[in-house]
Amino acid sequence: MRIGIIGYQGDVSEHAEILASMKRQYKRDIEVVLVKSRESLMSVAGLIIPGGESTTIFRLLKEYSLFDAVAERVRSGMPVMGTCAGLILISRDNPSDRVRSLNLIDAKIRRNAYGRQGESFIESLDIDGIGRFDAVFIRAPIIESVGSNVTVMAKYNGLPVMIRDNNVLGLTFHPELTKDARIHDYFMDMIGRRGYVSIAKREWYVADLI
Ligand code: GLN
Repeated sequence: MRIGIIGYQGDVSEHAEILASMKRQYKRDIEVVLVKSRESLMSVAGLIIPGGESTTIFRLLKEYSLFDAVAERVRSGMPVMGTCAGLILISRDNPSDRVRSLNLIDAKIRRNAYGRQGESFIESLDIDGIGRFDAVFIRAPIIESVGSNVTVMAKYNGLPVMIRDNNVLGLTFHPELTKDARIHDYFMDMIGRRGYVSIAKREWYVADLI
């Protein structure tokens, strides 16, 4: 299975390493592809958009003509996992004028909502279908609200921190910064499954086009 990681900036090698560790640990057949071009994007079965700096990743996705191409592939069913800055990018909306969201999951996001780098923290979460997980939050965004199609898989302080709608998975924290590969393994299962409801048919998405 070819798994892509948007490879311009951020936690690219950390995601690549945890995927590599899963070949041994979970006996997964995984080939990691750093996605920086349309050709590499077209070759993968699933995509990770890493944490990092969402304004930079946004700018480079535009510059290399990948912004619309990623949206198109996800809307036609390719699974995507966005972590932290990656979640900001896949969300429906964020109030910053320096980064536009891809509008792939019905969530409103506020960037840097816990404060600066120094306000980063680790919290043990209870995640649906996964169990307890030590989650690393670094200059994390907040998910302010989600639409009715979105499943909230974990909360912290009463707010969602892990959400899913069919083939789209978003986290405000960094699963690649622990040795625990269970969230990546969950994402691999999403890629292995078929029959997602196309998010392009979701009412909120269609309404946005009008
Ligand atoms: N604050 C960053 C942003 O807005 C995200 C932080 C992260 O990915 N760790 O892009």
